[in-house]
Amino acid sequence: MKSPDKFDTIIAGGGLIGLTAANALARINSGDPAKTSLKIALISPQFVEPDGRTTALLAHSIDYLKEIDVWKKALPKAAIMSAMRIIDNTKRLLHSPEVAFKSMEIGLDAFGYNILNSDLSAALSSSLKNYSNYHRINDKIARAVQRDGKVIVRLDSGVELSGRLLIGADGRNSTVRQYANNGEGIKVRKWSYPQTAIVLNFSHTLPHFDTSTEFHNTSGPFTVVPLKKGVSSLVWVVTPRAEEEIKRLQPELLDREIEDQMHSILGKTKVITDIQSFPLSGMNAYQMAQERFLLVGEAGHVFPPIGAQGYNLGIRDIQELQLLISSHLSNLADIAKKYDSNRKRDVISRTVSVDLFNRSLLSVFLPVQAFRSATILAISEIAPIRKLMMREGVSPGLGIRALGDGLRDFGRIFQNDQ
Ligand SMILES: Cc1cc2nc3c(=O)[nH]c(=O)nc-3n(C[C@H](O)[C@H](O)[C@H](O)COP(=O)(O)OP(=O)(O)OC[C@H]3O[C@@H](n4cnc5c(N)ncnc54)[C@H](O)[C@@H]3O)c2cc1C
Repeated sequence: MKSPDKFDTIIAGGGLIGLTAANALARINSGDPAKTSLKIALISPQFVEPDGRTTALLAHSIDYLKEIDVWKKALPKAAIMSAMRIIDNTKRLLHSPEVAFKSMEIGLDAFGYNILNSDLSAALSSSLKNYSNYHRINDKIARAVQRDGKVIVRLDSGVELSGRLLIGADGRNSTVRQYANNGEGIKVRKWSYPQTAIVLNFSHTLPHFDTSTEFHNTSGPFTVVPLKKGVSSLVWVVTPRAEEEIKRLQPELLDREIEDQMHSILGKTKVITDIQSFPLSGMNAYQMAQERFLLVGEAGHVFPPIGAQGYNLGIRDIQELQLLISSHLSNLADIAKKYDSNRKRDVISRTVSVDLFNRSLLSVFLPVQAFRSATILAISEIAPIRKLMMREGVSPGLGIRALGDGLRDFGRIFQNDQ
């Protein structure tokens, strides 16, 4: 039998995360003078389902896409987000004030950019053409085993490959996750919400001023993000029953409903894409890695489409992976434990904050509503909290570091005063 083709890293999945991981790992210098870079295989089916969704990329992700030389290809298709607004639409007794943020307040040109998934995917694929050490195989991973210090992967076509590491970027039903741990798999925690996200893009007659606006409704957020001049994208979280009603609306009535939901802040609206819907759910893998099997993106954590978390968090998985692989080239088997522990805190803290935020909107319990209103009021009115939240939002850890610096400065002033 033919011996398997050998790679340093095999990536399963050619979604946004798999393509980003391939760009990041293809850049790593192998440390071997006879071989300048790692040999990377990306395995994914060729057929890609049409995806009308957009991704709001936060400032930290943009910095990383610049670092791996992808951003210049994506930028011409992306829309800047330099302001954000939160509007309480709940008509509840405890009503929160409207909050508006400008990226200039924290010295940034933008909080981030919004881009069609298909455009981001095209930019990532085009950048991969620069790497001769990258090999795309249009197939699916059928099974994977760890043997003699490597991972042997069998594809649907029957072809076998071997790799020093197997990266699962194969989405929420990951095959890699299932075959980790000597075939016992990595266990996951799954949950769902009584909500569905309606996703579409629409044109409008008034300018968006590069502002993303989040209306808080009792069924979930209604989030409008700029996409290009006169066009925005919408993620509208509703109950499954409302979803059915919305999908049955005649086009003119749907246009009108969207305009009404936004109190006409963007003028007349017209839906310009199909409606997609996504039942809201979440998932966390108990381990992000197990020996030579490592998970990135939705293979390791699934978020409801609230607060632009999924891809942005996946970028941080990839960043950590790139760092660990670069520093452990001679013994890649050592990185799993470090990767798992380094990624867990970020994944759990984001999961908890999105979950609490979503549940606080749904709750009819008055103390919960009071807490939500008080938090929004604090963000709106107390300058250090406001800046902390903005910095944490665009780049996790940055807000806390800035707060630490601020407290240290305060401490120094206090000491000098004594
Ligand atoms: C409505 C909505 C809006 C969102 N908006 C945002 C946002 O604004 N910002 C943000 O950061 N995130 C957002 N997200 C989340 C983001 O879209 C996801 O986190 C991200 O797309 C996940 O990418 P992935 O590559 O991990 O998974 P997937 O996109 O699921 O890709 C997995 C890939 O693996 C392939 N595959 C599957 N099985 C195998 C196998 N056995 N072998 C090989 N390949 C395989 C599949 O064909 C697919 O190509 C949103 C999500 C939704 C639902």
